Amino acid sequence: ERLIELRDIKKSYGNVFAVGGVNMAIDQGEVVGLLGDNGAGKSTLIKILAGAVKPSSGEILVRGKPVHGWSAAKSRAAGIETVFQDRALAVQQTIVRNIFMGREITTAMGLLNVGKQRAEAERLMRDIGFTSKVFSPDSIVGQLSGGERQGVAIARAIYNQADLIVLDEPTTALSLTETEKVFRFVRNVRESGRSILFIGHNIHHVFDIAERFVVLDRGRVAVEITKPEVKTVD
Ligand code: ADP
Ligand code: ADP
Repeated sequence: ERLIELRDIKKSYGNVFAVGGVNMAIDQGEVVGLLGDNGAGKSTLIKILAGAVKPSSGEILVRGKPVHGWSAAKSRAAGIETVFQDRALAVQQTIVRNIFMGREITTAMGLLNVGKQRAEAERLMRDIGFTSKVFSPDSIVGQLSGGERQGVAIARAIYNQADLIVLDEPTTALSLTETEKVFRFVRNVRESGRSILFIGHNIHHVFDIAERFVVLDRGRVAVEITKPEVKTVD
């Protein structure tokens, strides 16, 4: 199923087109890599997806239906969650507090008490591939590695019932080992049927994980590549 489609999306700042007519679609369960140099328009495009920036023109369709007056609320309602770089987590807090951040109202209403939150956090961590021997929901996020922090942000997006998780350069500052951890989390998310849009500077950041790549150049889709399926002979 087609989850989201952008049709001829443009965004200009003065006479500069940050995004100059992008067509792009993401299907349910797909992992798509969005690549491009600095200034290519990646940030602007994901802010548009998040409803934080209004496109100057173009159309956004959710599950085949055009959505009018696209906004942050409509983006959320469409099941889109963005994990923005560096802005995601409260590092002095525990994993469970981070996953349920902003959900205190639910707690106050008694729908999810602390014990249930811990159990839910544990389940989410297991589902996305945390090694339970090392981490508990009470681990402090500041003591986790970079890749593991991305995992906590991903767990939170899943808790928020995201169908599409947008990851803003989640591995750009990470070592190879840490990048592998993030890839493991992403693979588990895909197995659960969710879609991922994975932003990176270059192909090395996404090659192992994405099945399709969209390369932006000066606000336009310069290349779109679907990775050929590699069949192993046994
Ligand atoms: P990327 O994320 O790929 O580095 P951006 O979306 O941040 O690209 O930027 C695309 C282009 O739009 C750049 O030329 C940038 O300077 C410009 N741009 C982005 N945001 C703004 C803004 N708020 N005001 C003016 N120009 C902007
Ligand atoms: P990124 O590469 O992730 O876009 P930047 O440091 O380039 O990070 O941009 C940070 C913020 O500044 C973003 O909100 C972006 O929209 C804005 N921005 C980028 N380029 C410009 C610009 N030329 N003028 C004004 N704001 C800009």
